[in-house]
Amino acid sequence: MIIAITNQKGGVGKTTTAINLAAGLATKGMTTLLVDLDPQANSTMSNIDLADVNENMFDVLQGSVNLESVIAPSTAHENLWIAPARIAMAKLEVFLSSEIDGPYRLRDVFDQPTRHFDAVIIDTPPTLGLITVNALVAASHVLIPIQSSYFALEGTDDLLETIDKIKARANTELQILGVLITMFDRRTVLARQVFAEINEVFGDLVFDTMITKSVRLEESPAHRTSIFEHAPASSGAAEYYGLCEEVLQRVGSNNNGRGED
Ligand code: ATP
Ligand code: MG
Repeated sequence: MIIAITNQKGGVGKTTTAINLAAGLATKGMTTLLVDLDPQANSTMSNIDLADVNENMFDVLQGSVNLESVIAPSTAHENLWIAPARIAMAKLEVFLSSEIDGPYRLRDVFDQPTRHFDAVIIDTPPTLGLITVNALVAASHVLIPIQSSYFALEGTDDLLETIDKIKARANTELQILGVLITMFDRRTVLARQVFAEINEVFGDLVFDTMITKSVRLEESPAHRTSIFEHAPASSGAAEYYGLCEEVLQRVGSNNNGRGED
């Protein structure tokens, strides 16, 4: 399974979800690759020292090196590997837009022989540009984090339209794995309203697991590791573990993705 974590809205919990879903699956014994396509490189920094990153996904998508040569083992978790990003990733949009195979580069990269991964998690930037399109074309599933806040659903129409366009032609097997409510604050009326609204729009697609707003998750990036290492007894760790279980259940029950690569 290849899961793209996507929402073009900024700051909704994509990177936090990518880091912790990948770490959780690795903890469960799955050989997992976290592919960082976010120019902010936070997924990378949570797993390896940025100073050690030389060649990265930018070079891979430009075609100058192969995926295998940028993959590094996470220093935070066993079974977890990272395909790092560097800040220069933003320039990649410009490059990809001038290439005839611009939207298909990541899929072609995954089609090349490389070691086996049980799960691939892709963190994407907050745009619907070609980097995100590459993730959606290469993925078997897309997971959409939605922040529990005012205007939570703003922009989801555009995202769903993009997914539909990609499903129509470039990647007919792409499935929406689910919608994850993030930064939920049980105490507020607003959160409950937003919850009802998201459920009305997405119905069964909404994961039963919700990620509540927590200081532990908020500070987790500063500790350069996952919530499982940083605060294993926290609610955030329990919730992201719950998400892993639900993801595996859903993938298992609609197992017609692009196979295990
Ligand atoms: P971008 O669109 O900029 O890439 P993103 O969608 O990847 O953002 P994150 O970086 O995961 O979002 O989260 C945005 C901010 O919210 C970060 O500072 C993160 O630490 C914080 N955050 C994420 N999840 C939670 C949570 N459940 N509770 C509290 N803070 C959170
Ligand atoms: Mg991010």
